[in-house]
Amino acid sequence: MTDFSKVKRTHTCGELRSSDIGTSVRLNGWINSYRNLGGLLFLDLRDRYGITQVVINPETFDKEMLAEANRARHEFVVAVTGTVQQRPEGTSNPKLATGEIEVNASEFYILAESKTPPFEIEDETNASEKLRLEYRYLDLRRKPFQKHFRFRHEATLAIRNYMDSQDFYEIETPLLIRSTPEGARDYVVPSRVQKGKFYALPQSPQLFKQILMVAGFDKYYQIARCLRDEDLRSDRQPEFTQVDIEMSFVTPEDVYTLLEGLMASLFQKTLNVTIEIPFPRITYREAIHRWGIDRPDTRFGMEIVDLTDEVRACDFKVFTGNIEAGGVVKGIVLKDGGKLSRKQIDALIDVAKEAGAGGLAYILRAEAGDKSPILKFIGEEVKDRLCRKAKAEPGDALFIISDKKHKTEQILGQLRMYLGREYNLIDKSQWKFLWVTDFPLFEYDEESNTLQAGHNIVSHPHEEDVPLINEGFTTDIPLSDPTHPWRRARAIQYDLVLNGWEIAGGGQRNNNRDIQEQILSILGIDKKRADRMFGFLLRALEYGAPPHAGIAIGLDRLVALMSGTESIRDVIAFPKTTNALSLMDGAPTELDPAQLDELGLQLKKES
Ligand code: ASP
Repeated sequence: MTDFSKVKRTHTCGELRSSDIGTSVRLNGWINSYRNLGGLLFLDLRDRYGITQVVINPETFDKEMLAEANRARHEFVVAVTGTVQQRPEGTSNPKLATGEIEVNASEFYILAESKTPPFEIEDETNASEKLRLEYRYLDLRRKPFQKHFRFRHEATLAIRNYMDSQDFYEIETPLLIRSTPEGARDYVVPSRVQKGKFYALPQSPQLFKQILMVAGFDKYYQIARCLRDEDLRSDRQPEFTQVDIEMSFVTPEDVYTLLEGLMASLFQKTLNVTIEIPFPRITYREAIHRWGIDRPDTRFGMEIVDLTDEVRACDFKVFTGNIEAGGVVKGIVLKDGGKLSRKQIDALIDVAKEAGAGGLAYILRAEAGDKSPILKFIGEEVKDRLCRKAKAEPGDALFIISDKKHKTEQILGQLRMYLGREYNLIDKSQWKFLWVTDFPLFEYDEESNTLQAGHNIVSHPHEEDVPLINEGFTTDIPLSDPTHPWRRARAIQYDLVLNGWEIAGGGQRNNNRDIQEQILSILGIDKKRADRMFGFLLRALEYGAPPHAGIAIGLDRLVALMSGTESIRDVIAFPKTTNALSLMDGAPTELDPAQLDELGLQLKKES
């Protein structure tokens, strides 16, 4: 039996420097590597703080301990006692913070053995993600993860400190709540005590934070876990973390100021980067119009140009037919794209088609002259007019989409992002923040001919658009018509975008029951159902609900961006796969029949 108190570390594996030479130390750590060189045994000991080289001289070492040291393998946990010494001339390692010194060991103990790990613990690994998720504790030992989680901790701490400096309370809200119509599917939890009834896990603390406003806590925040049972894409997780914020007696201006201050402080404290505030603001409509997306990456240009007027009178039926049917013709310019090869163009066409385009027209302004498959249809004059309008200079390429307005912009938006990435147009050293405001209050679903909440069922309509809510109840305009008053209504709803990612979203809330009920009824939730689903909020709104607004930051995405990693899985300690599986603990699992019985549940037979 090891006497743990006797082998406890005096220093970490990242701590010792030349100034410690001559000091007696004891280190604990994992064996990162071992090698036998010229009769000496070298061990690299690793912990969260770094790596320290340990030397064992078999000639002078205790024989029993030497046998232990020789038995030790990768990932064994060991304790070493020894003296810090300078590394021999020419053997220092500038890549290690401890690279000037080594520990000349006098004692060695194995604290825990390890099986051979299924993959090596190295900075770069070829091991499959499946294997790494299964053995997440081993994967997390790798340096990039150690760095990410240190950063995540620092970022969270900086956020907490800033919120505290602004007089916010951190208040927890429940995890077991009533199922509410928040947007995505709820994860549900059966109740044992109240058989046949279910709790839901919160998709966000939204309704509770609003109720905290009614309760008079006028500045609230929480680092909150949110759970949504959605079909997962690679950048989504069934549970994720929000910095959830709500404030009373405010307008969106106050939220913008708070977030700008928070981001400035966070970037300064963690990355030592000074970001420019206030952030620029654009409306949703302008964002779609200029970049074809509601979260534009403004680290590069390439804005969408309207070419409809330029081709209106030409003979090319694809364009004119579409314009007559109410469509548009728009394009984007790739600087110096005139030399693109057939293969590169084909790849672009694929991107456009994947985004829903019927085809992609283009003009390549090459040295040998302008090349375009549509030249024979539009003629020289229209081609020149197009290039002039789009400012496509000789040597550039112009890509053109002709479809319905929104679709055209969306396709060009995706093409733009592809070109930006593919042709390295993005300045990766920049942090480009942008507020996108005035989102549509509702989104129209063609299939069901109904409206859905644009962002959030609790968003207040834009003040100027409040009359549109009433108008919509009596108008003759069908819902399928985009000029229907409800489809024109904007919400006081804003997103904060960073380098093309939506990192936060929020809005001014309905603080009066009538308007909230009207919006619910437009969404097809009648009074009875509204009452059943979240009557508790509606009731609270009748007891002096102050005007309030808030926002929630997607912490995982923000931390991932700031750490320079693509995937939020890199900054979540125990993430799930895109099938919502946790490969390490094997969740979800079947329940024991006795457990089901206790919950009063019976599983349907698979058909
Ligand atoms: N609860 C909202 C969400 O999760 C954020 C907010 O409006 O504060 O998207």
